[in-house]
Amino acid sequence: MTDAYDLGAKIRDSLYAIVDHFVASLPLGVKAINSGGMPGSASKEAPPPVPLHVLDVRAMCCSRLAGWARVVLEERQLTHSSLQAGDALGLARFLMVHSDYLGRHEAGQDAADEIDTSARELRALALPDPPTGVVIGRCPVLDIAEEVTICEGTVRAKPGEPIRCERCGSTGTLDWWHSLMFGDTELAPLVTARDLVGIIANQTGHVIDPATIRKWVERGKVQRSGADEKGRPLYDHVSVIALIRMGKVA
Ligand SMILES: [Zn+2]
Repeated sequence: MTDAYDLGAKIRDSLYAIVDHFVASLPLGVKAINSGGMPGSASKEAPPPVPLHVLDVRAMCCSRLAGWARVVLEERQLTHSSLQAGDALGLARFLMVHSDYLGRHEAGQDAADEIDTSARELRALALPDPPTGVVIGRCPVLDIAEEVTICEGTVRAKPGEPIRCERCGSTGTLDWWHSLMFGDTELAPLVTARDLVGIIANQTGHVIDPATIRKWVERGKVQRSGADEKGRPLYDHVSVIALIRMGKVA
């Protein structure tokens, strides 16, 4: 059992972590705008979209902090005109001052657990683990905000999670991604190196770099099969997959 003094210190540590990681939980490029806008940092380019799960974590953090701030305000009969429900940093700093009070509160353990959960979630967003899982390919999802563009984010499969695009956050089954990337019909017999990487990942589970394909060609293990209209080399994916399965290339 944690005693009240420790609980207050624990709450304070979690609040420091929230202050450290709240701004950094946003994707690069959005940070300057949301951290108050550094002079001269304004860009005419629209910021990248913030993935929904990031917004959820930040909104939940604000809601938890606002809830506990309300408990402190009401029970200590304080008036604190500058607190705003959506201002995580202001709420966290306010709660730091009252963390020992919260730690001694009958609901202190709940406060510590909730604030700790938000601190961990924000930390995971701000300091993500190195990427794991298998790259399925480039995201073909269309973004039709102003002009039609293709997302081209990295689509990655991780154990126990839906296959997700790291840029736009779209998720789907392998079949769904596959049909978007390569069309519902049979795959074209000849594909570019980039598409070949996705097909190899889909069919063998091995993630390779397009540079590896060029190495195979230089060593004469894989043949190019012409080029597309942009001059990009094309490859017969069926024979490349067969070579991989036979262990002739790796
Ligand atoms: Zn995408």
